Amino acid sequence: MGRRDSYEQEDGHNCLECGEPVALEDGRADRKFCCVECKNRYHYRRHRRLRMLKDRIRGTLDRNYEILDGLVKLGVTAVDRNEAMLMGLDLTVMTSCYHVKGHLECACYDITYRLTDKKLSNISKCLTKFAP
Ligand SMILES: [Zn+2]
Repeated sequence: MGRRDSYEQEDGHNCLECGEPVALEDGRADRKFCCVECKNRYHYRRHRRLRMLKDRIRGTLDRNYEILDGLVKLGVTAVDRNEAMLMGLDLTVMTSCYHVKGHLECACYDITYRLTDKKLSNISKCLTKFAP
């Protein structure tokens, strides 16, 4: 009924790294790479991308923590979102966040805060909350 058989489907395979057609006769039918070098390059790149993403998020968390910690030390418990942004806080990155009636309860490690459309409030440090 016009359906290609499985052999023909396999026939169109190309290397995920270099795009060259993958030879099927000398290997498994599900080979994704034309050679070991391509396979290694592909995985190296993929892992590097993930490593870079993790580094970036860790960097943002570090910066957020430094800013929030500074506020706690100054006794500041609330700031406008705009102020927070000007300080360099990235409110899209946090270690935990959950909804509580109309606002979010967020944390950056042991510093917690309440987040609404307009401001951060109840900024406080409570390590005991996270202790085992
Ligand atoms: Zn290749």
